Amino acid sequence: MNRIKQGDTVEVISGDHRGAKGSVHRVLLDKNQVIISGINIVKRHTKPTGRVRTQAGIIEREAPLHVSNVALVCPHCNQRTRVSYRVQDDGRKVRFCRRCNEMMD
Ligand SMILES: [Zn+2]
Repeated sequence: MNRIKQGDTVEVISGDHRGAKGSVHRVLLDKNQVIISGINIVKRHTKPTGRVRTQAGIIEREAPLHVSNVALVCPHCNQRTRVSYRVQDDGRKVRFCRRCNEMMD
C-alpha cells in the first residue's frame, strides 16, 4: 500500500521547492515519484510532430518529485505527518495520522 495517494496534500521537504505545498496530481508507482500540482514546473520546448496534434513551442508542466522529498500533510491537523495503518473490521487498510489519530482515507 502506498503512503501517498492522488489527491493528498503534501509538503516538499527538500530540494528547490522546500516548504511548498500542493495536492498530488499523479502518483508514479513504479518510480516512487509524485507529480504535485503547481510545484516543480519545468519548461519543455516541443516541436510539432507529424500527424499527431501536439502543442508546439514552450509548454510548462510539472516534473515529478521523488516521494522521499515530500511529506504528507494531514487534512485534519494541517501538519506534516507520518502515517500509520490500521486494518478495519471489513479488512480494509486505512491510513491514520500519527499526530491527531484521524483517519486519512
Ligand atoms: Zn492529523
